[in-house]
Amino acid sequence: AKSIDHILDESPLVNAIQLNHWQWIASYYMCTLGEVFRGALPAAFILESETQLHFRPEVQVDNSAMTDDEYLIYEALQHQSSLTMQLASSILNRKNVYPVVQSLLQKGVLALHEEVQQTYKPKWVKYVRLSPAYAEESQLVALLDSLKSSRQKEAVLGYFQCQAESRKPISVKQLKEKSGVSDAVLNALVAKSVFETYSLQEDRVDFTNAFQPYTLTLSMAQQEAYDALQHAFKTKPVVLLHGVTGSGKTELYIKMIEATIQTGKQVLYLLPEIALTTQLVQRLTRYFGNTVSVFHSKYSNNERVEVWHNVLQQNPTAQIVIGARSALFLPFSNLGLVLVDEEHEQTFKQQDPAPRYHARDAAIVLAQAHGAKTLLGSATPSIETYHNVKIGKYGLVNLLERYGKTPLPEVQLIDLKEAYFKKQMKGHFSVALLDAIAEALALGEQVILFQNRRGFAPVMECMTCGHIPQCTNCNVSLTYHKFKNQLRCHYCGYAIAKPSHCHACSSTDLITKGIGTEQIEMDLAQIFPQSNIKRMDQDTTRGKYSFEKLIDSFKNREIDILVGTQMLAKGLDFENVSLVGIINADNLLYYPDFRAFERSFQLLTQVAGRAGRSEKQGKVMIQTYNPLHNTIQQVTHHSYTEMFKEQLYDRQIYKYPPYYRLIRLTLKHRDFGKLKEGSLWLYQGLKQHIDSPVLGPEEPAINKIRNEYLRTILIKTPANKSVTGIKKTIQRLLDSFDTVAQYRTIKVTVNVDYY
Ligand code: ADP
Ligand code: ZN
Ligand code: ZN
Repeated sequence: AKSIDHILDESPLVNAIQLNHWQWIASYYMCTLGEVFRGALPAAFILESETQLHFRPEVQVDNSAMTDDEYLIYEALQHQSSLTMQLASSILNRKNVYPVVQSLLQKGVLALHEEVQQTYKPKWVKYVRLSPAYAEESQLVALLDSLKSSRQKEAVLGYFQCQAESRKPISVKQLKEKSGVSDAVLNALVAKSVFETYSLQEDRVDFTNAFQPYTLTLSMAQQEAYDALQHAFKTKPVVLLHGVTGSGKTELYIKMIEATIQTGKQVLYLLPEIALTTQLVQRLTRYFGNTVSVFHSKYSNNERVEVWHNVLQQNPTAQIVIGARSALFLPFSNLGLVLVDEEHEQTFKQQDPAPRYHARDAAIVLAQAHGAKTLLGSATPSIETYHNVKIGKYGLVNLLERYGKTPLPEVQLIDLKEAYFKKQMKGHFSVALLDAIAEALALGEQVILFQNRRGFAPVMECMTCGHIPQCTNCNVSLTYHKFKNQLRCHYCGYAIAKPSHCHACSSTDLITKGIGTEQIEMDLAQIFPQSNIKRMDQDTTRGKYSFEKLIDSFKNREIDILVGTQMLAKGLDFENVSLVGIINADNLLYYPDFRAFERSFQLLTQVAGRAGRSEKQGKVMIQTYNPLHNTIQQVTHHSYTEMFKEQLYDRQIYKYPPYYRLIRLTLKHRDFGKLKEGSLWLYQGLKQHIDSPVLGPEEPAINKIRNEYLRTILIKTPANKSVTGIKKTIQRLLDSFDTVAQYRTIKVTVNVDYY
């Protein structure tokens, strides 16, 4: 038996349900348990192990026989008794200190010791209180009289002001702000035993102040839907709430949450995007106060650890957890309800790194383990989910009326062929769209314009030789960003200054093609110089709060026109938007993916749903070359079921989900030839051993990213058959692939239920 060196955690940080669930994720999504752990645990839990050098005073040594380096370390150890390797190397001013350490070890001067530490740093806040000696008023009066320094008096008076304003403990920081006195003054008062200071460990995030309780009355349609939900959950553990945009799904969620926490159970509320949490957190904390907690990847590691502990200890502050997909990994022990809002969003699927899990699907499995209900919500449910409703696996509740009975927005199609032909275009805008914008602005209403591409123009082309500047690391053309006057790669971040001449033929006749959000923003500024126009895309929302700021100023009507990418589509609620314009619907439709039509429908419907959320019916204008395209027609007529039927039919014929499960293997290597050979080897193995369609090896549309070539292999397995066997076969082949010497360096990633 060995002696215990450290006790890392007094009670486990991870519970049994989590462990089981993580094991399920590892096996279903074909990754290692370690990969799941790495994705699941806040990095601050991960232990850093450090080698410490320990002094051994009991050993007698002759220090005159030491080299200078040995002596320096010996010296330092006598004073400090232990050193980290890093410190030792800074003492010697060189990197490799190991030879020196080795020789000291042999001489017995020091011992090596592994020290293990968590990197989480609790936040301590310093508080101040008046000494109990002054509890009586008379004592206090005497004190104030006795204080000769006016600064000190101000500090004491400031203390009482703070006390009058809140009943909470008073922090030193708060007191300094209130009284305007310095640390020196406060320290003097502490020395005189007038004040006492003490420290408390605190959470970094606090929602206490947001609590503004109000009563929520459901509309008649909402109440019916709520009753229907209760009914549906009696027989089905998973229920889809199909509610049109603006129907008040959030209000139903709030009622569901309320009913759940009243039974003492926890709620997990998953959102597809961090950006969305702000608006929702505001709404929920107003109603539930600080029983709401938030968890997502923009949180610092320390913040995440705190939420983790709160959930683990079932602190009331974490009864309701709102989060992006990783919130799924928190240590719930008593879940009663899992909500997946905007369940159709593809961002629920983790891409890289592993585990490549689908948060909606993993949440359903998690809920099952807790015996909890799962409520999926969307105005445009995914084909997979709606199919599960149709085959009776999930329950369904419809809410097809907007709150306040506002009609759904009127959709008007603008045929770009015709508009160009009739010369009714101004740049990329049809005259009809511009007129509608002008009209809305004149009425003091706000406008949202949607364009799926960021940057100024997708490509720059030489008119003399046709050369298009490419990224040097990826096989993709560079995007022109006018504001920074750069060409940038959207895959690896590579950027160069905008060239003045063609690198292929030196011609200066360069033009830009296509349009991005940046160009739309600039063009609009010329047409509507009086209006405040802002842009919302990845480039303008990088900072921690930049997205929130944009949303807030748009909500406060400081912005007239908001131009943006799909970020705009997701669940945002602005009541003053009367017009939504879609600059070009076609680049969505012709995206090379089997889900392109489904996604176009969802995205267009969701963007459109931002219009007319108050009393007035909103208007949506879609510019397209394909006004008769089925998907565009389905959007125009708000016809989800038509879209569903058509897509489902195609999926069946072409063997895609929900009829087939997809497992995609991606192979990567810097050597094109080796990759080609390796992927063929693997493909042939799969083909031989798997009795389902195996497609490829294929070059993806962008076949080189960050100097690595890519190939993919797609395996399709019938959804009504177990995939366990096939997964085992794939794993076996991947293992033997690894043993082939020349393919050892080829990286293979597995994506189960590939999106
Ligand atoms: P959805 O998420 O279904 O698109 P929301 O939940 O955002 O719809 O609701 C749309 C708007 O209607 C929001 O501004 C919301 O506050 C308001 N609303 C919905 N239901 C109610 C209700 N019962 N009482 C008051 N306001 C409501
Ligand atoms: Zn050229
Ligand atoms: Zn690149």
